Amino acid sequence: MSSTEWEPVIGLEVHAHLKTRTKMFCRCELAYGAGENTRTCPVCLAHPGALPVPNRKAIQYTIELGLALGCEISERAIFARKNYFYPDLPKGYQISQYEAPLCGPGALDVPGGVRVGITRAHLEEDAAKTVHAGGATGRSVGADYSLVDFNRGGTPLLEIVSEPDLHSADDADRFLRLLRQTIVELGISDAEMEKGTLRADVNVSVRPRGETGFRPRWELKNMNSFTFIRRGIEAAVREQIAAYDRGETLEQSTYDYDPDTDRLTVHRSKEEADDYRYFPEPDLVPVAPPADLVERLRSGLPELPGARIERLAEHLGVESASQLVSTGNDAKAEAFAAHGVEWKAAAALAMNRGDFLPENAEALARIVQANVTREALDEAFAAAASGPIEADPYLAQTALGDESELGPVIDAILAANPGQVATYRGGKEGVLGFFVGAVMRETQGKADPKVVNRLLREKLRG
Ligand code: ADP
Ligand code: MG
Ligand code: ZN
Repeated sequence: MSSTEWEPVIGLEVHAHLKTRTKMFCRCELAYGAGENTRTCPVCLAHPGALPVPNRKAIQYTIELGLALGCEISERAIFARKNYFYPDLPKGYQISQYEAPLCGPGALDVPGGVRVGITRAHLEEDAAKTVHAGGATGRSVGADYSLVDFNRGGTPLLEIVSEPDLHSADDADRFLRLLRQTIVELGISDAEMEKGTLRADVNVSVRPRGETGFRPRWELKNMNSFTFIRRGIEAAVREQIAAYDRGETLEQSTYDYDPDTDRLTVHRSKEEADDYRYFPEPDLVPVAPPADLVERLRSGLPELPGARIERLAEHLGVESASQLVSTGNDAKAEAFAAHGVEWKAAAALAMNRGDFLPENAEALARIVQANVTREALDEAFAAAASGPIEADPYLAQTALGDESELGPVIDAILAANPGQVATYRGGKEGVLGFFVGAVMRETQGKADPKVVNRLLREKLRG
């Protein structure tokens, strides 16, 4: 064990496929899962003389994301050629942005007190997809031959680069989830990691706590789930600390995370060297978004997930608020709370009950606060999903809350289950649920659970 306390330092490069109808620089339609090489044209296949035309919608989407991250929007963004040689890149360069990205510095506040600087957000085109076939590993190493599907080539890709402001796998996970949620809610990308429409490269280094400089980073690639990203970060942190403890020095390098072995393997780079010889794209003029367009997009932004989590966290804590927002249930919880339902109960109802028409929020709130039978409650929620409901018919189905009626039922159940009673009295209060269930069965779901719980506790104590 070393005495040094190590601090992880993490920065992310996130790519999202934009949900435009057509590709970034041509009119080929985007179609996931379409037959191989059915969405191509002279532009995205790089036939000589074919010229790119930028996709207006992709530019608008990128600006919207930039505004959501509080970024400066460039008045004169420049497309650049990033040169490298690989079969997935027919032009021999990728059109990207380098010195003048569309969106400059900004920040994303992750609820819980972590502010992550956004270095830049820019627009580029995705490469085609290579499929390595015949080999035992399925990777390029050992494959017999490779096939290229150019359908993906030219897909608009939003790249978001964060500052190295994250200091744990947990925080990186929360940042990435919030960023994803923001992207999805803006409607600019489906951002599904399993489908490859969201990808993240993760840069990781460690340093002794208190040190302010940065040490060489490892860039982790090809992790296609939130879980693998988290585990990849943990593996890199672990291995770097072990290396420093052995007295080694580290170099900047690129790894893949192998989920089967929970280890990092050296990434086979497809580029010769990290020298892309960027230069301005001569076939495209600079992008100069009109100020009134930017202002219109800014004022059209919805309330963002981060802000909603902050707002709900005051009542529910960050974790529960994040869960509500990330599952799209926060509006329901707020509607219940607005009509008097206590916040925790409102959150539980929003998470556990199905969707209902917003106009039914008030009636449902009245019903859940009254002592109605469980059946009435189920019926009310079922009906509230498809049409307007009135509270009164449900309120009439009052639950059995009368102690003189419930008392004997409970006494009989306790008498019939001496073993469970002893377990409860021995400290295992979890068996309370067993008794509640038994009372509900005995009363055909008509007993008021609140009264049942109170009576059970009293009698079991006794
Ligand atoms: P490149 O474009 O060559 O990958 P950048 O300077 O743009 O290099 O950095 C890429 C990412 O690496 C950014 O997300 C940044 O936050 C992160 N990063 C930079 N230095 C470090 C470091 N020492 N430790 C961890 N992450 C780092
Ligand atoms: Mg990089
Ligand atoms: Zn095309």
